[in-house]
Amino acid sequence: MSLKIYNSISRQKELFTPLEKDRVTMYVCGVTVYDLCHIGHARACIVFDVIYRYLQFVGYKVIYVRNFTDVDDKIINRANKEKTSCDEISKRYIKTFYEDMNSIGIKTPTHEPKATEHIPEMIDMIKRLIDKGHAYQASGDVMYSVESFQDYGKLSGKKIDELQSGVRVEIDEKKNNPLDFALWKDSKPGEPAWESPWGMGRPGWHIECSAMSQKYLGEIFDIHGGGKDLIFPHHENEIAQSQGATGKKPINYWIHNGFVDINKEKMSKSLGNFFTIREVMKKYPPEAIRLFLLSNHYRSPIDFSNKNLNEAGIVLHRFYEFLDLMNGLVPDNTFEPDSDIMEKFKSAMDDDFNTALALGHLNEFLRQLNSIKDQLKTKKCNDADGLKKKLGEGKKAILRIGKVLGLFLDKPSGFLENFKEKRITELGLNKNQIEEMINARTEARKNKEWQKADEIREGLNKKGVVLEDKAEKTIWKIKL
Ligand SMILES: [Zn+2]
Repeated sequence: MSLKIYNSISRQKELFTPLEKDRVTMYVCGVTVYDLCHIGHARACIVFDVIYRYLQFVGYKVIYVRNFTDVDDKIINRANKEKTSCDEISKRYIKTFYEDMNSIGIKTPTHEPKATEHIPEMIDMIKRLIDKGHAYQASGDVMYSVESFQDYGKLSGKKIDELQSGVRVEIDEKKNNPLDFALWKDSKPGEPAWESPWGMGRPGWHIECSAMSQKYLGEIFDIHGGGKDLIFPHHENEIAQSQGATGKKPINYWIHNGFVDINKEKMSKSLGNFFTIREVMKKYPPEAIRLFLLSNHYRSPIDFSNKNLNEAGIVLHRFYEFLDLMNGLVPDNTFEPDSDIMEKFKSAMDDDFNTALALGHLNEFLRQLNSIKDQLKTKKCNDADGLKKKLGEGKKAILRIGKVLGLFLDKPSGFLENFKEKRITELGLNKNQIEEMINARTEARKNKEWQKADEIREGLNKKGVVLEDKAEKTIWKIKL
């Protein structure tokens, strides 16, 4: 194996060596279920979905854990606002999460633990932290003492002294140090609460990931992932908790994905500058969202814009058009995937999952295949079988790579049809109108009213619809 991963904690690319030869353990922080997911969430899910798929593709058995944070201030606030229960809010948004993830082709992880179902494990870990002198009780709360943990700040590159001077001095007499964070919180009346050695209360946010990763993956595991915004304080605190409890360094490779920006600002709920996955899918095919996000390296920031999504849709259309043409032309399952493009794909992905480079190679490959296809059509070539073999191997490679990136998974004809429909709706047209105009043009041509026929063609062209006269009838396409 020659996979290199940029490890956030060492700040360099490292050769990936899992704890066990053929098996990878990976934990990724999931969502807090209090609202619909936006494109920023889609990015994190897609990035780790592709990592999950790629690790499997190169032959690992992957144990992938992604949690649901279903107890949190945001959930409580939303429940209060809607005069309903936290349970009702989190159930609702777990349901919409699955709907959205299914539409954008996210594979189900091995385990999807919910925080509320792991309270005993969290209590147990907090007890161990108190015993080891890393945590202290402060009335109904339990606080983690950051000064008790030598490695605090290693992941984020922050030093406790610097952090302290940067902290706004909040008056919280429960904390010995303003950087100390809550492992357990005393709950107010009406809030979700569980029995604990420290009275009725609920867990702090960070402890759930330490307790659940340890339960499903063990005290030490291979990969921990999440958005870059989680490095501090969430992941820093996770290390402090897990390592504090066991004395062992819990995670070998830290992977963090970059943000989706709008006008150079991070897309987020709190800034209000977000687009939900649902909104975007009304206009663009779900795979266009994937292609757009994967066209950038996972650590780079991405500018969200309709223009970029539109372009991604067009690229996708090109691939599906090719695949559609290949149906019938080259038989399935006869060919092995083209080895040259497979090698290029692997070497791009082995370099810290460089999907941007991989897609660049794939686009170039498609251009070559299209020119082979044209050769086959136009020339009286004496090597039709050789060209068909190349096309067959090309198609197989595109589908194989697509499976790893979560692309080209639709039926080509279905994709092309949906694409057309979405686009004409945007152009303010509908299928019937276009068919009527094509009929009127056919009629005009029969009557040799050439000018009228041309006007109809021009009129449609201006609106973005292109007509193509075939032997048996006239078909229409979207101008891309
Ligand atoms: Zn987490």
